[in-house]
Amino acid sequence: MKRKVIYIAGLYHTGSTLLDLLLGNLPNVIGLGEIFKCFHDKFEEQCSCGKTIENCPFWGEVLSKYDSSFSVDESYELVLETFNDQYSTDKILVDSSKCHPFKIFQKKDDRGMQGLNSLIYRPDIDLYVLHLVRDVRSWSNSLNLRDKRYRSDHTPLENIYMFIFRSTFFRFIQWYVGHKRILQFINKNKLKSLRISYESLSINPADTLKDCCNFLKIEYDEFSDLSNSKSHIAVGNPMKLRSKDLGKVTYDMRWLETLSHILPSIILLPIMKFNQKLTYGRKDIK
Ligand SMILES: [Zn+2]
Repeated sequence: MKRKVIYIAGLYHTGSTLLDLLLGNLPNVIGLGEIFKCFHDKFEEQCSCGKTIENCPFWGEVLSKYDSSFSVDESYELVLETFNDQYSTDKILVDSSKCHPFKIFQKKDDRGMQGLNSLIYRPDIDLYVLHLVRDVRSWSNSLNLRDKRYRSDHTPLENIYMFIFRSTFFRFIQWYVGHKRILQFINKNKLKSLRISYESLSINPADTLKDCCNFLKIEYDEFSDLSNSKSHIAVGNPMKLRSKDLGKVTYDMRWLETLSHILPSIILLPIMKFNQKLTYGRKDIK
């Protein structure tokens, strides 16, 4: 029997850790966070299960067998093997690795789709892709706020670079290219997919999760407390979110207080139309 695997595809700063944690509350669903990033970045000190990484029953076991010379495919092999050892076949694995398809020249072996590139070739899994989208105005504003938080001294040349590549205009184009490429990848590889917006997830989490359950062909079970999540999320600051319950999931409305998106929204009208379709339109339109 093939193992069901959910892959959360989307761009960074889109709410994938929240979706991963919420899914981990559903019966039979275990969130493992951004698996790709685990091997290419550093782990948080604490896993969302409450244990340190070394003592986490899942990641502790993986790391005891992991070697830094492993390829991406070998790393995924180890994670899936450990999952198969620890969980029965009815358990569903969630990988919220997202995608980073921004390189100008997408080479054949490019890892812009992160773990999704590895998972589509595995015959032992039944893959379900959740394409997570966030309103481009909200997304660009959240990146602007992040950039302001980490502002430090730069040379004049660096300042010019950042003025261009961190502008709201540039973020709109980056969002457009990123989602177009994700959709192309899903369609080209004929993957089973459901589009979910960060907006619907944070404004109406219960109904959005019901949609996910229908797509995954699993039962929806009412829950309210996120601390019951069975997830082992080891990157993306999961503990910050874990203290919330379903009733406390809130929508980040800060973009409504700024004007920075107004001009790009008018000038880049085709991107706004695409945003309307992707974020608020019918989920089955590709
Ligand atoms: Zn853990």
